[in-house]
Amino acid sequence: MIKIKEALCDFCGTCVSVCPVDCIELQEALIKIDQNSCTDCMLCVYVCPIETLEYSHG
Ligand code: SF4
Ligand code: SF4
Repeated sequence: MIKIKEALCDFCGTCVSVCPVDCIELQEALIKIDQNSCTDCMLCVYVCPIETLEYSHG
């Protein structure tokens, strides 16, 4: 699963725009991933400019 280091996120929206299954929810100061829809494709991890997202096992 993809984990979010929420304290780092600046809510730039880059990850949201690349997610192929549209499972990242971003509101003003809130970011969430729908883990049921996420395919662990890692695209969001690669594009985040400040490495806020990381893959974690389980
Ligand atoms: S790993 Fe892929 S499917 Fe999951 S949230 Fe990131 S971009 Fe979306
Ligand atoms: S790309 Fe990174 S900093 Fe931007 S909204 Fe996504 S997790 Fe936050």
